Amino acid sequence: MSEPKHDRTPPNLSVLFLSAEVFPYAKTGGLADVAGSLPKAIRRLGHDIRIAMPRYGFIDRDRWGLTPVGRVRVPMGDGEEVGEVYETRLADVPVYMIDNERYFHRDGIYAYPDDAERFIFFSRAAMELARTLNWSPHILHCNDWHTALVPNWLKTVYKDDPFWEHTRTVFTIHNLAYQGVFGYRILEVAGLAQYGFIVHPELSHWDHVIHFMARGIIFADFITTVSPRYAQEIMTPEFGAGLDPLLRERADVIVGILNGIDTEVWNPATDELLPHRFDVDHLDVRARNKRHLQEESDLPVDENIPLFGFIGRLTEQKGIDLLTDAAEKMVRHLGAQLVILGTGEQRWQEIVENAARTHPRNIRAYLTFNNPMAHHIYGGVDMLLMPSRFEPCGLNQMIALHYGAIPVVREVGGLADTVHDYDPRTDEGNGFSFRPYDSTALYTAMVRAVENWKHRDTWRRLQVRGMTTDFSWERSAKQYVDVYYRAYHSPGTVPQHLLEKLNFRGAP
Ligand code: ADP
Repeated sequence: MSEPKHDRTPPNLSVLFLSAEVFPYAKTGGLADVAGSLPKAIRRLGHDIRIAMPRYGFIDRDRWGLTPVGRVRVPMGDGEEVGEVYETRLADVPVYMIDNERYFHRDGIYAYPDDAERFIFFSRAAMELARTLNWSPHILHCNDWHTALVPNWLKTVYKDDPFWEHTRTVFTIHNLAYQGVFGYRILEVAGLAQYGFIVHPELSHWDHVIHFMARGIIFADFITTVSPRYAQEIMTPEFGAGLDPLLRERADVIVGILNGIDTEVWNPATDELLPHRFDVDHLDVRARNKRHLQEESDLPVDENIPLFGFIGRLTEQKGIDLLTDAAEKMVRHLGAQLVILGTGEQRWQEIVENAARTHPRNIRAYLTFNNPMAHHIYGGVDMLLMPSRFEPCGLNQMIALHYGAIPVVREVGGLADTVHDYDPRTDEGNGFSFRPYDSTALYTAMVRAVENWKHRDTWRRLQVRGMTTDFSWERSAKQYVDVYYRAYHSPGTVPQHLLEKLNFRGAP
């Protein structure tokens, strides 16, 4: 990456990174992976970045060495709630966990009727914590809708508060599909009622709701999303999930930065969850992982049968309909095998389970969240399938490449930025991709993959290419720091051209 052109004063930034999930403490998907690794990489660049997250009841105090550091009083509607704060360290990044029994002592992370209130509490508690620590960070880095009201508070409730005078906000969209839309009462809980509703001429369906993500987009000083291609896509109606008019309005502050993978966690040479460790010079060892995976999945053990994998949430986003359609063709015409690992919507679970039951010699489904099994799959399959309808970044394809599994992907979002279709004539590319959202297109890409897999030399070149690509966080971390500086030096007002379109109305 070229050296950033922006003024790098102050030389060391202080950043509070707010996330609803952080690996290894709490994870449902890619957000946790990013929150558990990006801050470490930014800290290595010399900046004082700290993480804030909720302390869910299942995060064990002893296991993670949580030490109490005090309490915060958080304004909620007309009253206030108290949060107990714990601290631990992720490598050398301080992690503050905000505890509140009523909000966070539950089995899961999301999908409760009071999610709006829970994450208002968390976000505002994180801000109150900074005040309690007498630490006013240069940057509040918010992630996804859960923390998207922070920029809104900063530009309204705290506008004249000297403590926040020099603080700027960066809002990262990890997935535009989850927007956080709630009824008007939430505006009061958030203490924003006096600033009213936001009405935009092209987004009339917002009337009388509070839309967390839209507010993040309006009020943040800078907006990032997790791949350059997705940054372009979300400004179009096809991928904008209804927010594209607003995103186009803020195009000048939207930056796409590709996620990295945490190579301390994902490294086939040191991976303790892998049955047989290997590296690029010992690729032959990899065959033992394939055998292990076939065995444990009750599939015929045969290295001459191509083995596909799929890991991910069983939702429409991940293209499960294409996957199950193409799997039928795969069984019939290719005689290949497929191991699926995922949890999600009941109807998809049933369809996947049914496919596995019908073809027990070819398809195995694990309908659980199982991290060790994910490692077995990355290290054992020949190819990993990602036929996503949309994909903000996608980590699986990068992990797969790093583990010598060749990705077969739909050419969207971060998949398009990281996987380049293999062309046997030029020997360029690192995987297989297809464009139309259609199971035949996926199946055709699978056929091409299998054809090339049969050529051992070609395949090994592809594996080496993938395993030696730099997917570390360092490059992305430098780009984030660049954005922090740009945000820091920006005037920090809602842009005039947007203000002219918005009409702030009082609550009913
Ligand atoms: P998402 O859209 O879910 O955030 P990503 O590709 O960005 O997708 O990240 C998915 C992460 O979650 C990867 O680390 C992947 O290995 C992991 N993962 C997804 N489903 C499962 C599962 N059922 N068991 C174990 N790990 C999973």
